[in-house]
Amino acid sequence: VGACEHYLRRLQQDHTSREAELVDMVGILREAAARLIGDSSDFNTQLISSAGRLKMMSGLEDIRDLKKQLSVEVTSLERVVEDKKARDEAAVSKLSERVQVLQADLIKAEEQASTDALTKIPNRGTFDRTLAKMIEASRKANSALTLAMIDVDHFKKVNDTHGHPIGDRVLICTAEWLRTAIRHTDFVARYGGEEFAMLLDGADLAQAEVRLKQVLEEISTRSFEYEMNGERRSVRFTVSCGVSQLQPQDSGQDLVQRADQGLYEAKQKGRNRVVTRKPSRFARLLSRS
Ligand code: GH3
Ligand code: MG
Ligand code: MG
Repeated sequence: VGACEHYLRRLQQDHTSREAELVDMVGILREAAARLIGDSSDFNTQLISSAGRLKMMSGLEDIRDLKKQLSVEVTSLERVVEDKKARDEAAVSKLSERVQVLQADLIKAEEQASTDALTKIPNRGTFDRTLAKMIEASRKANSALTLAMIDVDHFKKVNDTHGHPIGDRVLICTAEWLRTAIRHTDFVARYGGEEFAMLLDGADLAQAEVRLKQVLEEISTRSFEYEMNGERRSVRFTVSCGVSQLQPQDSGQDLVQRADQGLYEAKQKGRNRVVTRKPSRFARLLSRS
């Protein structure tokens, strides 16, 4: 009888400790469920009711009932969590799609803001920013930098003779010719109206003059062709150019001003030419000191 009593007590103890373990597990699940609560109301409701059922389970006397219920509850929790995961994934992929669209929009908007709408080359704002950057880079690298201001000659006449829309297309064409004439380290922008600004990286005044003379020569020998009322027509035109080279004391404005003076002189001297503008003797004296 003693041995029997001992065995039953052991069994009772085992049972009690197993039940305690299961009650612990229920507690852990309840906690996990409570932690997961925190977003969509549907999900919350399901978890709250699951947590409630788990709480009630810890009061169950029969360990088999407890196990069965627990397994049912775990399955249901798994399903709830799976559903939630699927919905979250769908929401995330929808959001990332939206982000991609917005990023593409942003890139397009940035491009539009920095590009001239007509000629599709960089605009005046981009020129100003690039000028500052290239001046800084050329000072750091101790290399030459020249600026060419290029203006279409008698452009008003092109408009008057062929009409404003053809004038537009001549500008597009000029921009394209200039763009293909530069090196990849150079830069060209529409400065405004029928005027373009070109930055030649690493070129001094003499080197720039040689290259720009070639560009002007090419433009003067080419023509822009179009058709009107079945008739082929062509526009021949020339450009004038003023060039300045960056000096140690120069601001971007100084560089533009000198190139502009060169351009003015080129127009005065009869157009279709390149005029380089050295800094004044006073400025050269300043830079030596
Ligand atoms: P110059 O040789 O002295 O430079 O003479 P020009 O006729 O080229 O210069 P002017 O400044 O007298 O005239 C420039 C003309 O360019 C006037 C303006 O209507 C025209 N223009 C400016 N921007 C555009 C444009 O985007 N499209 C067209 N079609 N014409 C433009
Ligand atoms: Mg002009
Ligand atoms: Mg002009």
